[in-house]
Amino acid sequence: MMQLISKLPNVGTTIFTRMSQLAAEAGALNLSQGFPDFDSPAALIEAAVKHLRAGHNQYAPMAGLPRLREQVALKVAGLYGRGVNADTEVTIVPGATEAIFCAVQALIRSGDEAIVLDPCYDSYEPAVELAGGRCIHVPLALPAFTVDWQRLADAITPRTRLIFINSPHNPSGALLGRADLDQLAALIRDRDIYLISDEVYEHLVFDGVQHASVLAHEELYQRSFVVSSFGKTYHVTGWKTGYVVAPPVLTAELRKVHQFVTFVAVTPLQHALADFMADHPEHIAQLPAFYQAKRDLFCDQLRGSRFSFTPTPGTYFQLADYSAIRSDLDDVAMAEWLTREQGVAAIPVSVFYQSPPPGMRLVRFCFAKREETLLQAGEKLSAI
Ligand code: PMP
Ligand code: GLN
Repeated sequence: MMQLISKLPNVGTTIFTRMSQLAAEAGALNLSQGFPDFDSPAALIEAAVKHLRAGHNQYAPMAGLPRLREQVALKVAGLYGRGVNADTEVTIVPGATEAIFCAVQALIRSGDEAIVLDPCYDSYEPAVELAGGRCIHVPLALPAFTVDWQRLADAITPRTRLIFINSPHNPSGALLGRADLDQLAALIRDRDIYLISDEVYEHLVFDGVQHASVLAHEELYQRSFVVSSFGKTYHVTGWKTGYVVAPPVLTAELRKVHQFVTFVAVTPLQHALADFMADHPEHIAQLPAFYQAKRDLFCDQLRGSRFSFTPTPGTYFQLADYSAIRSDLDDVAMAEWLTREQGVAAIPVSVFYQSPPPGMRLVRFCFAKREETLLQAGEKLSAI
């Protein structure tokens, strides 16, 4: 009898899939998995239809359509003041998740260590393990999910090859500022350590704060893969299209892996995104205000409830503490109870940790939703 020994024995179906499924079964408002319940811009959809009809349905160049890479380079120059070469530093990928996976495979060798800051996005660790590496988990400091620089420094060893950062941060919404990036640069300056900077929520930063991108940090950029997702920026998470910006040497290694994982991203969607970026620069400029209004509406609703919270500074996620409601339930049980019994699905925060802080009573709500959905959710949450 053959017996397959799992390479990922601790991995099951992701919490996002499980909660969305439970929400559907229970007929609950789905504020769990992060995706909009509203349409993407009509002009973007029209552009996709146009390119599908125009016969743009065969393989794109492996690194992505030159015209879309050009648009990314223009955006990077305009927003972060960095001139990047669209041919050697920008790669279009089928989603940020694929990019992260490829970057990890390009960097991590057997026995290497990668540092993640918990709570962290669920795809990082399996990617490191499949490459034969090991994740070292450093918790962010509560209550504001800030980096504990001493703990991070203590976690670095001669085997450390990679550090993941994610700002704006999923699930907490916390932001890294320029001073944080300077601290990080000082910490790894004389070491052979690379960065994956997961900036998929780069445009979802509120209250007039500017996103501190690694793309604007000369020293860190030289050792970084900066990853973003058109899915978040253009309300098309199902398009699974993103990009990576990295110095030429790193880009070359990333592409070696990318070409054998998926080879390319989807052609007509790349054309549509290139058209839309060129024709509608205002979309990105308006995004912070667009999502801030949703955050404010959702927080106004929550104020009438027994949840306690601090309005999130970034992303489309709001954390809420439910200790005043059901402190007897852990957060996984609470998320299920909210979904089944109260009709609002949420994501438990402990699943983003290797060792969740004892007694943590936090759930995550996604407010990338129509006003009507947020009002209905507010009504249900306030009634608990
Ligand atoms: N990183 C983080 C922090 C995310 O929240 C997401 C969204 N699912 C991703 C990466 C992946 O993005 P994509 O859907 O483009 O793969
Ligand atoms: N990033 C999304 C979230 O945090 C989910 C993406 C996924 O389902 N893999 O909700």
